[in-house]
Amino acid sequence: MQTFSIAIHGGAGTLVKGMMTPDKEKDYKKALNNSLTKGYKILESGGTAIDAVEIAVRSLEDSHLFNAGKGSVFTADESHEMDASIMDGKTLNAGAVSLITGIRNPITLAKDVMEKSEHVFLAGDGAMQFAKQLNYSLEDETYFYDELRHQQWLEIKDTDNFQLDHSLKKDSKFGTVGAVACDKNGNIAAATSTGGMTNKKFGRVGDSPMIGAGNYANNKTCAVSCTGSGEFFIRGVVAYDVSCLMEYKDMNLEDAANEVINKRILEIGGDGGLIAVDKQGNISMPFNTEGMYRACKSSADKEEVSIYK
Ligand code: ASP
Repeated sequence: MQTFSIAIHGGAGTLVKGMMTPDKEKDYKKALNNSLTKGYKILESGGTAIDAVEIAVRSLEDSHLFNAGKGSVFTADESHEMDASIMDGKTLNAGAVSLITGIRNPITLAKDVMEKSEHVFLAGDGAMQFAKQLNYSLEDETYFYDELRHQQWLEIKDTDNFQLDHSLKKDSKFGTVGAVACDKNGNIAAATSTGGMTNKKFGRVGDSPMIGAGNYANNKTCAVSCTGSGEFFIRGVVAYDVSCLMEYKDMNLEDAANEVINKRILEIGGDGGLIAVDKQGNISMPFNTEGMYRACKSSADKEEVSIYK
């Protein structure tokens, strides 16, 4: 019987045990669990992998705990610019948006680009015009505001620094989000959504909306969603690299994902992690940082919600 499964992440980084209060840890686990349950239910009732990853990511975007949708980090001019992408491993259809503002669920706009436009990737004003045409309502800045994110920005705002919402400081929050799933028909999909990096400017775009870099799905190999230092993940074409190792080198999911995260991306200086599934419903969640908010569940009785190594 076909195994169906889902994995999600809420970002990787300097997540050291003991840095967070037990209550906060509980909040994170609850948010991860909510997202996982929503996605898994879709799969259980016979829904598609693409719907499952969208629903799971929407749930994480709606939580202020993660750097996506509500709770996105601040740009250099004290606003929010969000990026998202989604890919269907069955058809290789994909949709992506970047530098969008005011959209509650960027992942749904990315899915609309995939399903309702002739294009794959819409950015900035153009993406906003497309959203307007589809009657998206826009939230004002207060919806996305998060006290801690604002604090992180205030600390570096007058510098040329831009940083992951991964920092060594106590109580730091992390958080690009993503989901990958394999449905009852053995079709797989991947979705990723982010606010990017604190204090980013010049229209900086990371790996998350880039098909092949931060997000990729192909029924032949795997579905992958990444989190980490975007500039390195773009140069390493990380998500596609995992797929290539499986396709051209005949590696299994676990070995391919590990090779990329614990060797190839480290060699060029990238830190982060990824979640991946294949069409047999296998799951892999490697990271080369201290921790990664992550969770997975499969019909083959695998279930996990964790943060640290
Ligand atoms: N990869 C994201 C970016 O560079 C950041 C993250 O994963 O938190 O935009």
